[in-house]
This record gives sequence, C-alpha cells and structure tokens, in this order.
Amino acid sequence: MCYSSLSKEELEAVRCKLAAEYESIKASGLSLDMSRGKPGAAQLDITEGLLTAISENSDCYTDGSIDCRNYGGLDGIPEAKKLFSDLLGIPEKNLLIAGNSSLNLMYDALARAMLYGVVGSDMPWCKLPKLKFLCPAPGYDRHFAVTESLGFELVPVTMTENGPDMDEVEDLIKDEAVKGIWCIPKYSNPLGITYSDETVRRIAAMKPAAKDFRVMWDNAYVIHDLHKDGDELLDIFEEAKTYGNEDMILYFASTSKITFPGAGVALMAASEANLKQIKSVMTVQTIGHDKINMLRHVKFFGNADGVMKHMRLHAAILRPKFEIVLNAFEKELSDICEWTKPRGGYFISLNVPDGCAKRVYSLCKNAGLTLTNVGATFPYGVDPRDRNLRIAPTYPSNEELAKACEVLCICVKLAAVEKAMA
Ligand code: PMP
Repeated sequence: MCYSSLSKEELEAVRCKLAAEYESIKASGLSLDMSRGKPGAAQLDITEGLLTAISENSDCYTDGSIDCRNYGGLDGIPEAKKLFSDLLGIPEKNLLIAGNSSLNLMYDALARAMLYGVVGSDMPWCKLPKLKFLCPAPGYDRHFAVTESLGFELVPVTMTENGPDMDEVEDLIKDEAVKGIWCIPKYSNPLGITYSDETVRRIAAMKPAAKDFRVMWDNAYVIHDLHKDGDELLDIFEEAKTYGNEDMILYFASTSKITFPGAGVALMAASEANLKQIKSVMTVQTIGHDKINMLRHVKFFGNADGVMKHMRLHAAILRPKFEIVLNAFEKELSDICEWTKPRGGYFISLNVPDGCAKRVYSLCKNAGLTLTNVGATFPYGVDPRDRNLRIAPTYPSNEELAKACEVLCICVKLAAVEKAMA
C-alpha cells in the first residue's frame, strides 16, 4: 500500500490497525537478533571435522616435514599457500597466510603505513598534517572504525549497484591527503553487490595524487555464492598490472565465513615489493602465526575443490534464509521500500522511507528484535537520509527469521504511516 495516496482518515485507520498488531507482538515477549553477520549453528556444524583433522603428534607435519608444533614460517606453510593460491587464482609468491582475522591484517596494514610509510615512500603517514580515507557507503562499520581510530577523516562515497561511484572517487583522489579506499568487491557488506568490470578497471587504473595511496581490497565474500552461477569479479591484480599499479592493491580474505569465525585462517595478497616490506615489520611483531590451524584447514579440505564443495553446503543452508527475508519484503514492503537481492554474501540492504530508519530500529528493539545499529553502514555512524538498514539473515533459525521479518515489516509500515501522517 502506497501511503502517500491515502487521505488523513484512511491513514489513521491503517495506523490504528498496525499499532494494534505491533502491541500484540510486543506483548508476546520475543527475543530475536538480526544484527550481526554470523553463521548459524547448522553452518558451524558442517565444519565439525576441522576439530579432529589433527588429533595426534604425527599429524602435525607438512609434506616438507615442517613441524607445525614449533616456531617458524612467518608467511604461512606451503600447503596453505597452495590451497589458497588454487582457490583464489593468486600466485603463491604473492600470498601471506596469517592468523585468525583479516580485519586484524587490515588494521595492521594501515597502522604500519602510519608508523613506517609504504613501499615507494618512506614518509610515515602519521607525520602528515591531514589524512583522509574514502569510505564507500553503505559499507562495513568495522572498516570505518579502523580508519577513524587511526585519525583519518572519513570521506563518504556513494555506492551504486556497480560498486563505488567512480566519478566521485576519481575526483576525490586528486586530493593528496586521500590515502586510500575501502572496497568489498564481491557481495559487498551490506549491499551484496559485486563490482562491475568497469568499476574494477577504473579502480586498477587510478592515478591518485597521493603516490602512496592504497586500495584495501577486502574480498571477504569471494567464494560465498548462494547459487551455482555466482557473480564474476575481475582479477584486480591482473588489471592493476596493466597500469603499473600492483603496489597500490592490498588484498584480504579469510575463512571466517567458511569454517569458524574467530578460529579460521586469514590471508593477505600483495605485490612482492609490498610483501617484502610487510614481512620486514611483521617479523618484529610475531615469530609466526598458528601453523597448526593452517594445517588443520589443509587436511580438512584436501584441496580447493574441497573448499568449493563445502561452500555449496553453506549455500544450501543460507539460500532459504535469504528467500524468507526477500519473500517477506516482496509481500509486505514493495510499495514503500527498496532492497537489494544479493546472490551471495551475508547481508541484504533495506532502504525504508527517508527519515524512518531510526524509528524502525527503536520500534523493533521495543518489540524484542535487535537490528544492526542504524547509521552503522555510514562513516561516523550517520546515515544522511536515515533510511538504510542492514539485514543479517544468517544467524537466526528459519522459524526465528520468519518471525523477525514479520516484526520488521510491521515496524517499517508503522514508521512509514506515521511519517506520511506527519
Ligand atoms: N570484512 C568484511 C567485509 C566482513 O563482513 C567481515 C565480517 N563481518 C570481516 C571482514 C571480518 O573478517 P575476519 O573475521 O577475517 O576478521
């Protein structure tokens, strides 16, 4: 129902009906959470074999007889490099296999630049008077938090269905204070869109005024397809090579949404020159990362095909969850909202009528449904149009999710009718 075409009396009648439905849901004492992109229990269960992939001392050796129980190997074991190289199509010489968190690697990459500078410039960023970072929005709140905490001014960039608005980006990088950009190129958080070929090419071809500019290419959802024919993403390194820009790209991924979040394996890919500089600092930070966990992952999957087979099990669990949400939106909200229909990843992005997102959030909260904080998808937590909600369908059970969607849709409609009346 499109509220703008209703008379005052009709609106009041709709509002009364929705308010009554809302009060009855509120009285039922729900406790539901659609706030964070965590795998559900069924997804964690399919990875149980990882826990016993190494069960005795003799399991702890790599083929080359590295004893993974001991120190050594700053950039990861060869088997893990081979696994991820085959999986991602990135040469082993460009890979660094690390600890349990790609976010940690991203933070360190920028903290390193602050303290020591980057390849091609030995000017530590912290010595510069002004630092800015491009933040395509809606985007990932933890990215924004990293650059905010390190003292960058966060510069919003409009996200389109093809990725960041590259006209805006190309204009903004004329400013030497702009040192980098956050990118989630495949099934982006929260839109679920994949960058078009043109966007990837324009990113790879950038000539920023800052010679030490870095693209934070966070490919967190690189193999997280919901369907057989997943989105295709151009190889950023291949494209960057054409323009002599390989040093500009820092690539990140992890198995957080493949095996166990917080107990997976994270990796970084970069030019050889970048990796050399990164390792020279990393060797001061650590003697090496958790090789037993790397080996455990290699043994559990066997090879890249094993990982892809595992991802199909995830997809079979996640597809119905996305369908529950998308069907509910289609049925209840099609006249008043817009939303994305991702073919992978962990999120759906819902735009409610302008000025209504905070109201929806608090109505949901009071009815026992937790949503991602309103504004979290924008730099400094401020959504200029107060309309974007990040929907995370993966964690609740299907029954909980259906109930959560029912609550959410009532709250959206109630907020929208209130706004139409005002
Ligand atoms: N990047 C993106 C885009 C994410 O959505 C997440 C998890 N929500 C992360 C990074 C965190 O990854 P990790 O567990 O490897 O630190």
